Amino acid sequence: MQESSLKTLELVRAYSIPIRDPRVSELITWYVYALQKAIDIIWNGVEWRYEFPRLCEKNGKLVAVTGSKVKVPIIPKDSGFRRMLRNELLKDCPYASHWVDSVIRTAYSIVESWRKRYLKGRAKKAKPKIKRRFARCKITLMKVDYNAKTIRITLKPWEYLTVSWKGAWFDRRVRSWTIGEVVIKDDRVIIPFKNSKVIEVKRIIGWDSNELTLDGYEPSIGFIHVDLRPLQSIKIVYEKKKAVAQAKNKKELYEKYKAREKNRVKDFINKLSAGLVRLLPNSIHVFEDLDKESLTSKEKVRRGRRKRNAGTPWRKIHKRVSEVALTGSVSSKYTSRECPKCGFRVKTQVGHTFECPRCGLKMSRQNVAAMNIRRRYLKSKHRMWGFPRSKDPEETMRVELRAGVTLNGRSPMIWTPMKWGSEGQ
Ligand SMILES: [Zn+2]
Repeated sequence: MQESSLKTLELVRAYSIPIRDPRVSELITWYVYALQKAIDIIWNGVEWRYEFPRLCEKNGKLVAVTGSKVKVPIIPKDSGFRRMLRNELLKDCPYASHWVDSVIRTAYSIVESWRKRYLKGRAKKAKPKIKRRFARCKITLMKVDYNAKTIRITLKPWEYLTVSWKGAWFDRRVRSWTIGEVVIKDDRVIIPFKNSKVIEVKRIIGWDSNELTLDGYEPSIGFIHVDLRPLQSIKIVYEKKKAVAQAKNKKELYEKYKAREKNRVKDFINKLSAGLVRLLPNSIHVFEDLDKESLTSKEKVRRGRRKRNAGTPWRKIHKRVSEVALTGSVSSKYTSRECPKCGFRVKTQVGHTFECPRCGLKMSRQNVAAMNIRRRYLKSKHRMWGFPRSKDPEETMRVELRAGVTLNGRSPMIWTPMKWGSEGQ
């Protein structure tokens, strides 16, 4: 083995503690007001300009990065600007000045994330507006007592808010975990507990996300097909309910269904991700990154693939899996058009079956994509992973495993490997 296969996974679990304190609502009201004010000031300082071609180092080589064809937002960050912003916010701040620093940091992260989404074509050219009531607490405003299981939050100098997680239902789950920045809501405090776990990587699995299935490949296992139809049915059920509510002009009901749909989708994806980790431990799960295409890049080749993925839940799945397991991502270019056996790239893609005109390989397109995603990841890492070659890939390429998530009530999810063995693709 040339390189260690030990990797660290950072785990975060957030739990909330209910609170009832009129001072909290007052704090949040100020926080949200100050946050919007900070965003307004930063937004007014944004400069829109063309990016010029420049040289960049990539894998030790100098490459020319082409400039942008559209104007790109440049966020003001210099110390002079920051000082002005801080002074402006301190003018009407009745709280400890660290709260102003928290506001500034949150404002910057909101504008930065808007910028990222804007450059990827996923956000409009519009100033972010704060709609939710919350206050993010800086570490410097918190004093955590891990023995007493309490957090003391400074509101004003010598004025504190204390929350405790002693005896909470999750207490045992987070023993010896550390605490990150808490988020305060009107009725609760959300505490993120952090821990890291060392994982010995034994497998790398390539995942291709489709509308009805998630298709994976790993040589020692074969192909893994995860049924995503329950997601589809959730969508259909709530589309109908929402349409009825809309026709009756009942906005509240519509919002209720929308929220319920979101919760059910989230619940399914959480169970699915937990199931994948249980079924396939010690793995790096590799997904395509369709976000790599940006507004400023000239490439538009992945349109077809992008369109095909528009209805798939790949982004949500990728995000959730990355919270519970090690993940990787690769470019989505040609993943379903390249022959995994000889590397030949076919020009057009029609139908569900891939047929290689050069070597004659015949295989489902999902399987081809899963294999290519995995191979691309290994290639991009420039390294040999010293995994045991348990089976001949030719042989495992014929193995198809099916897995699903049951959603009945609150019962834990069950994996049902309905079919082990060859299916002859
Ligand atoms: Zn071929």
